[in-house]
Amino acid sequence: MNVPLRNHDIAELKRLDVAHHLPAQADHKLIAEMGGSRIITRAHGCRIVDGDGNELLDGMAGLWCVNVGYGREELARVAYDQMLELPYYNTFFKTVTPPAVMLATKVAEKLGNGLTHVFFNSSGSEANDTVFRLTRHYWALKGQPQRKIFISRWNAYHGSTVAGVSLGGMKAMHAQGGLPIPGVEHVIQPYRFGEAFGEDPATFAARAAQAIEDRILAVGPENVAAFIGEPIQGAGGVVIPPDGYWPLVEAICRKYGILLICDEVITGFGRLGEWFGFQHYGVRPDLVCMAKGLSSGYLPISAVGVADHIVAELREKGGDFVHGYTYSGHPTCAAVALRNIEIMEREGLVDRTREDTGPYLARALATLNDHPLVGEVRSLGLLGAVEIVSEKGTNKRFGGAEGTAGPVVRDLCIRNGLMVRGIRDTIVCCPPLIISHAEIDQLVSIVRRSLDEALPILTGAVKT
Ligand SMILES: *Cc1c(COP(=O)(O)O)cnc(C)c1O
Repeated sequence: MNVPLRNHDIAELKRLDVAHHLPAQADHKLIAEMGGSRIITRAHGCRIVDGDGNELLDGMAGLWCVNVGYGREELARVAYDQMLELPYYNTFFKTVTPPAVMLATKVAEKLGNGLTHVFFNSSGSEANDTVFRLTRHYWALKGQPQRKIFISRWNAYHGSTVAGVSLGGMKAMHAQGGLPIPGVEHVIQPYRFGEAFGEDPATFAARAAQAIEDRILAVGPENVAAFIGEPIQGAGGVVIPPDGYWPLVEAICRKYGILLICDEVITGFGRLGEWFGFQHYGVRPDLVCMAKGLSSGYLPISAVGVADHIVAELREKGGDFVHGYTYSGHPTCAAVALRNIEIMEREGLVDRTREDTGPYLARALATLNDHPLVGEVRSLGLLGAVEIVSEKGTNKRFGGAEGTAGPVVRDLCIRNGLMVRGIRDTIVCCPPLIISHAEIDQLVSIVRRSLDEALPILTGAVKT
């Protein structure tokens, strides 16, 4: 069956969608009642187009990933050429392919800080599975096999596999399937607006970091393998920790000799104005998960950056690390990722995010502070959030609980031509790194208009 690129029969596609397809992270009853999902047919730059011909500004870069924007012919050519030369080969048979070697070299160069080696996977979740298994294997090699416990944060997102959900701190995900698996401990997230409204940032940074040390002491430092965290929690609602938090976390990890793992699946590849978020916060992780922006989503590929001292342990002790995937180091995906990084370098997208578009987004979002529904705006680089509250000057929510206002504002934004995500009552944005000033202005003006339209709906129909 040949799928045409244009002139789709949208009604028929929707019918078939309901008949045969189950989308990700979805309410399947709702999607069926809707008569199928919105069909996205094409995209260019920072814009996506749906089957009804609506054009939307993509405030989410797909799903936090299309850093170089849509329609890069260069990436399509690289994939085409690589597929003709060698579409696929594995790294199980003491074999590797040129793109995998070159991408590992490039990623290690961007990581720096003693993160000399790279292990490939296909998704962010798989990268988190890799750090889970590699960390425990490392401690076994070191003669401390009892070091099995991972410390993570509530509301963290580390993917949707069993290890990813377990490391993550999403209670609704834990509730499905009896997770987390044993050996994962969760502590308070550094979410000042939600968890410590009005508390002095430095005090809260110290308190949130102290929770990690307290838990280490409670379970016994000799049993702790690693701390894992996203430099900024993305799916948790763009939780930007107060300054000082990350250096304190690093110091605690060093004090007890436990590994520090940064999940940079969103924050990697320029999102915060550095190649990696840990570089912004000035800490040195032992393991780094990356995916999404690694290939700007053009093909699925992920990676784990590994510190030299961990590699030294693997090499000194020898023996198979019996872990890896059919598609680890996939040459076509690796070739596309390598070119994606080269585009980011050539166009200076990381520096532009730090010096130009990131500060511009921060100023544009700050104009929303006068809106009666806005409790806080925050951003770093091109990752932003708007908190919706029922009472200005507080963190009170409509309906008395979280999750009433967020979907209302999100749906209005989408209707008004902007794709954003509503996480509980936080509207989040993560646009492509190529976004222009005019497009940032458009993004923020659509959010304002949607907030204006939401105000009577929220204050009238939904009484707190
Ligand atoms: C998206 C994400 C993941 C999971 O990546 P998938 O490719 O969806 O498996 C893991 N960690 C973080 C921080 C993410 O944002």
